Amino acid sequence: MTPLADYHFHLERGPYTRDWLERFLAAGRARGVTEFGVTEHGHRFVEGLAVLDNPWVRSHHLLRLEEYAGFVGRMAAEGLPLRLGLEMDYVSGKEEEIRDFLSRAPFDFVLGSVHWLDGWGFDFVGDEACMAEWERRDRRQVFARYFELLAGAASSGLFDVIGHADLVKIMGLYPSPPWSDLAEPAIGAIAAAGVAVEVNTAGLRRPVGEMYPGEWLLRRFRELGVPVTVGSDAHEPEDCGRDFDRAVDLLWSCGYREYTVFRRRRRESRPLPRPKESSG
Ligand SMILES: [Zn+2]
Ligand SMILES: [Zn+2]
Repeated sequence: MTPLADYHFHLERGPYTRDWLERFLAAGRARGVTEFGVTEHGHRFVEGLAVLDNPWVRSHHLLRLEEYAGFVGRMAAEGLPLRLGLEMDYVSGKEEEIRDFLSRAPFDFVLGSVHWLDGWGFDFVGDEACMAEWERRDRRQVFARYFELLAGAASSGLFDVIGHADLVKIMGLYPSPPWSDLAEPAIGAIAAAGVAVEVNTAGLRRPVGEMYPGEWLLRRFRELGVPVTVGSDAHEPEDCGRDFDRAVDLLWSCGYREYTVFRRRRRESRPLPRPKESSG
């Protein structure tokens, strides 16, 4: 068993009830997760429209932030090992709106993520319109713009953790190599800002078939002293804590010996579990 914290999962496909939440916790606990950071998307809330507003966002039932923060607070008060997190879209030029949103609830930590490139949601796996854009666009420019925005997210000082740092690889569609230089501005900005990154196992369940970030990028972060959280990015209960043994293997092989948790946006380090003998 791997005592770890899952600092990235979403309840949004179910109701804010103890029963729905407990299904995530049960799956995570069976994999050794002892602390759970819930990270609903900022764009699921009415208040988030000030940051990101488009037809896709409005096609969902929008909740009030208070419904979410109040629910997590009540569950924590009842003794569940929960932290109030958030996955916030970073939108260039909306820094003040993001700051205002983040001031409205007592978050323990905030992930800053880039899912939209100037109006194009590039991570809709299997969506025809999304894939048509992938066919149409120059991949070098896509990667360059993604990492440029990610650098902006890090430099903004708004976030505690940068979410799935190389999400742009999600479809497994890369520019012709070498392209890793395109990530350098983001790597430098993340290290300079003192922000953490996450090892996110959801990439294993996407076309790219590998964690975010990939090994080369995680090694760079380690060399630069960037702290890490671990997250499953589960949207369904059975994915909570999924593949954390593999995350530990990757972290360990890249030289990490600690991971990070947060309380009221203050960082704390915990010892990283040792990899299981059988895995390597
Ligand atoms: Zn995300
Ligand atoms: Zn997520």
